[in-house]
Order: sequence, then C-alpha cells, then structure tokens
Amino acid sequence: MLRGGRHHRATRKDSVTIREAHTAPLCVGCHLSTSEGYAAMGRRALSLGATTFAFFTRNPRGGNAKALDADDVLALRALLYDNGFGKLVAHAPYTMNLCSAKPETVDFARRAMAGDLERMESLPGNYYNFHPGSHVKQGADRGIELICAGLDEALEQGQSTTVLLETMAGKGSEVGRTFEELARIIDGVHHDELLGVCLDTCHVWDGGYDVAGDLEGVLAEFDRVIGLDRLKALHLNDSKNPCGAHKDRHEKLGQGHIGLAAFERIVNDARLRDLPMILETPNELEGYRNEIALLRSFAGEGPDCG
Ligand SMILES: [Zn+2]
Ligand SMILES: [Zn+2]
Repeated sequence: MLRGGRHHRATRKDSVTIREAHTAPLCVGCHLSTSEGYAAMGRRALSLGATTFAFFTRNPRGGNAKALDADDVLALRALLYDNGFGKLVAHAPYTMNLCSAKPETVDFARRAMAGDLERMESLPGNYYNFHPGSHVKQGADRGIELICAGLDEALEQGQSTTVLLETMAGKGSEVGRTFEELARIIDGVHHDELLGVCLDTCHVWDGGYDVAGDLEGVLAEFDRVIGLDRLKALHLNDSKNPCGAHKDRHEKLGQGHIGLAAFERIVNDARLRDLPMILETPNELEGYRNEIALLRSFAGEGPDCG
C-alpha cells in the first residue's frame, strides 16, 4: 500500500523494528510421503505448521525412481517460496550403501546418488541427506575409502544441492558413528565444498554422545573434529535406548531417554536454531503437528507463527 510523506517513513521504520526484535521462525518439519506428489507434500507440510520437510528421493527400499512431473514440482516450488519455507532435507533410500562388500550394491548406490542429485536440481538449493553406509566386515578404513570414491563419482561441480552425511548410531558396521569418521570422509572427497553434516539426535545419543546432559560438550567436540560450519541440518528424534546403546530406535519427543529438556535447549541454541529441523519420530500426522507446535512453543513462537 502506498502512503505519502512522513507517515510512510514512520510506518516502515516501525515494521523494521518489529522484525528485528524477533528472530526468524524455526525451520521445522517432519518426514512426509511423496505418494500423492510433490505439491501435495508441500500442502501437507503447511497444514502441519511446518516450514521445511524431508522426503525420500525414491522408494526407501531402493529400486527405480519415478519420473518427476514438472508441473507438480513447479507448484511445490511456488508453494515453498510463497510460504517462506527453509531448505528441504531430502533423504536417500536406506538401501543405498556406497561401501557395501558387493560391487553391484556399490554400483547401484553410485548410480542412485548421481540420479537423485540430477533430479534434485529441479528443486534447486536444498539438501540431500544420506547414510554413509555399512562396511560389512571390510573395516572402517575400507568403508571410508569406498564412500569417498562414491562421492567423488556422484558429486558434480556446479550442482546446487549440498549433500549431507548423517551421523549414525553405530548399529552393525555403520560408518559415521564418530565425528572422526565423518571428518575423514569429508577430508577424503575432492569437492568437499558440496558436503555438510546432518546431526540426528537419536543417532548421536545411541552412538555415545550425551546431547541430553552435555549439549555444550557435544557441540564443542563437533566443532573441534568437523567444524560447526559443516552442520547444516538436524534430525530431532528421542531415543528408545540409553546413551551409547548403538541401537537406532527413534522415540516420540519426551517419551525416550533424551527427554524434552534437551530439545528445548537445542531449539534455543544460537548455533542450532536456524538449521532445518526434521522430525522422524514414530508418529502419524497429528503427532507431528503436535511436536512441531511444541518445538515452536519452546522457541517462544505462537501457534500462528511460521
Ligand atoms: Zn536417516
Ligand atoms: Zn535412525
């Protein structure tokens, strides 16, 4: 609306002051199904009060990816833009193992990742998160070598997607339980500027990092080993198991061993509060809606905010 003279300036100044007094709304959401298409996923996210979300880039059990519907993707892009969404955190299929002992599995993983990254360019500038892999008795050193080789093959200079290594619980022979292993992967990749880390609270907790009792210590350790500038996204999950259990069983927020107080500290930590936060808790949509509202209330946001 156009207004003249002093009144206009005063109004503008007031609105700027108001905006500066508040930090941006949390960028929070949950994992959503692509089964009804991309735009439908965006509408669902909106209905849950989300400002980001995660989705599988293809069937999580592997297999071929469905061709994208260009109109559907454009409709999602418009929705994200119009509603001020933050970066999305796409998730690679669980079956994708860049460091399998089976060459055909490694080959599938490399092709799947390259294909997914090509498709991600239709939603430019977002994140693509993957589990580094399981070395299956080959040892962590060989696993890391294979993961680096796979990333070197899949990453394309000029891509707009940042690829995120997920922190793992250390179940079986999973690579990426320790920050040191993730740092070694990043160090071993040629285009490491295209890499970041997604910290899963359940996984690091199960992996032995006490995010409930010593968030400060865990972040200091992350910063020392990897560098906090690499931390790009969070998976917010409570855990069914005690710290160091190496299990990876997610629980609803506040119903597991991590507890609500830890999540309240996380959303209020200046180093974390602007990162996309994705819930992968065992919930139906209504449960996600409640957890998103809970996290917003922790951050001092009203129900109509974001
Ligand atoms: Zn994951
Ligand atoms: Zn998990």
